[in-house]
Amino acid sequence: MVSLEEVRPLACWTGTDYYQGENIPSLTIILKTRGCNWNRCLMCGYRFERYSADELLDFEAKLNAQLNWVINNYPSSSYSMVKIYSSGSLFDPKEVPSSFLSRIASAFRGKVVVVETRPEFIEENKLETFISDIDTGAWETPLYCAIGLETTNDNIRDKCIDKGFSMSDFFCAAEEARKAGAGVKAYVLLKPPYLTENESIEDSANTIREVAKIAELISLNPCTVQKNTNVEFLWKRGGYRPPYLWSVLEVISRADIFVTCDPVGAGKVRGPHNCGKCDTSIIDGIRDYNLNGDLSLIEALLEIECDCKDEWEFICMKERSYCMPLTH
Ligand code: SF4
Ligand SMILES: [Zn+2]
Repeated sequence: MVSLEEVRPLACWTGTDYYQGENIPSLTIILKTRGCNWNRCLMCGYRFERYSADELLDFEAKLNAQLNWVINNYPSSSYSMVKIYSSGSLFDPKEVPSSFLSRIASAFRGKVVVVETRPEFIEENKLETFISDIDTGAWETPLYCAIGLETTNDNIRDKCIDKGFSMSDFFCAAEEARKAGAGVKAYVLLKPPYLTENESIEDSANTIREVAKIAELISLNPCTVQKNTNVEFLWKRGGYRPPYLWSVLEVISRADIFVTCDPVGAGKVRGPHNCGKCDTSIIDGIRDYNLNGDLSLIEALLEIECDCKDEWEFICMKERSYCMPLTH
C-alpha cells in the first residue's frame, strides 16, 4: 500500500505560455482522479489513467496529497498560469468532489487557471463560486474552461470520435462560462480516424475559423496513436496514419488567430510525423511559433524542401476515405 506521502499527480511540469501577446511562466498538472465518466473517445488513452475501485477508499485524501505535493514542489512565485487536467473533467462532481475544487481554487488564487472539462459540467453557479475563490482582480479573465471540442462538425465528432456531445451543447457551455465571467479554450483534433489527410486538414481549418468566434484560446492537437485505443486498433492494421507535420503547418498557416500547438509524440511513428529527415527542424519551428505567434515562421517552414513534401501533396490529392471500394 502506497503511503500518502508518496502520492504524486500523474504529471506536473513548468513551461512557458504565449498569452495575450507575452510569454508567461505556466504550471501544468495532470491529477489522478476517478477518471473520465464518458470514457469512449476513439483516440483517447488518458481515460485509462484512473484510480481502480480498491484504490478509492481514501480517494479524497489522495487528491489532497497530490495537491500538497504540487504546492511543496512548485513555489507559487514560479508561475502565473496553471493548467489543470484530470484525464477527464475536473468539474464533473462524480469524478472530483466539489470540496476538492475549493481547495484547488484557494491554492491557485491570483493565477490564470485553465481547467479541462466536458461541456455538460459547465454551470454558471459552480463557475462563479470557483472564480470568486481564485480571482484577485489581477487578470481580466481568471478562469478558462478548456473543452475538447475537436471539430465543429457534429457528424465527424460523432462518427469519427464518439465524443458524445454536439455543437449546441458546446454553445450552451460557452454561454454558461460567459455568464460566470470565464473564458473558453477549445481543443481541435487534427486527423481523427476515418478521415483522409486532406479531409482532416479541411476539417481542422474550418473548425478553427468557426470556433474563433466563440473561444478566446484555441489549441490544435494533432492525433497520436495511444495504447489500447480504437485508433491503435486501426493503426496496427494499416487503417490509420497520424497526420503529416506538413498538415499541421498547413492548418496553422490558414488560421487568422494564434493557435497553440505542442504536438505530442511529434516525429515518432505514433505521433504526427514526416519522413524522419525534415521532422526535427519543423518540430523546433512549431515550438518557436508557440512562443511568439509569428505566422511567418510557419510559412517559412512550409517552404522547406524535402522529398516527403511531394508525397504529402500527392496524398492530399489522391487519398480516398477509409474502406472505399477499389472498383466502381
Ligand atoms: S477525450 Fe476526454 S471525454 Fe473523451 S474519453 Fe478521453 S478524457 Fe473522456
Ligand atoms: Zn521530409
